[in-house]
Amino acid sequence: MEASTLTNNGVRDTSFCLQRGSYQNLGQMSKRKTTEYIVIHSSGTPPKMDIDVKTMDSWHKQRGWIRIGYHYFVKKDGCIQTGRNPHEVGAHCKGYNGKSIGVCLVGGVDENGQADPYYSGQQWEALFSLTNTLTFMFRDAKVVGHGELVGSSCPGFSVKKWWAQNSEILFGNTGYRNA
Ligand SMILES: [Zn+2]
Repeated sequence: MEASTLTNNGVRDTSFCLQRGSYQNLGQMSKRKTTEYIVIHSSGTPPKMDIDVKTMDSWHKQRGWIRIGYHYFVKKDGCIQTGRNPHEVGAHCKGYNGKSIGVCLVGGVDENGQADPYYSGQQWEALFSLTNTLTFMFRDAKVVGHGELVGSSCPGFSVKKWWAQNSEILFGNTGYRNA
């Protein structure tokens, strides 16, 4: 599927859903000092598998982490679920956790486990809205894919290119906010 935020006939699906997970209490957790990157990921789960933030939280706890490593999670139906507190150090991109915020899209691989950005129209819309909000929360941050920082096929498309095209819708062709 083409990396686009437009659904069929060019009509934008503006349905919006935000669900709070129970992982936000910053408490004694390490607060991130800088946010240089907004890093987009995929869950690496096959097309037929639909999971939510609770499942990802349990998978990350099985790795011995205190909780889900991502800050936001975007379900197949486009619902945005909150993970870690957005100001907490995450666990999602080795070498960059101290200076980035992590967003995970459900999906990202085909039946054979190969990277494939088959995300739903609602997910593209939700990612667009969420990324837009995050660029206002963290004004100096660049929008990138996991694989654009370290060797990885995640999330299966060029996030830099996607954001450059889509931020034009918001900011015009000024280069402003382009990664
Ligand atoms: Zn990733």
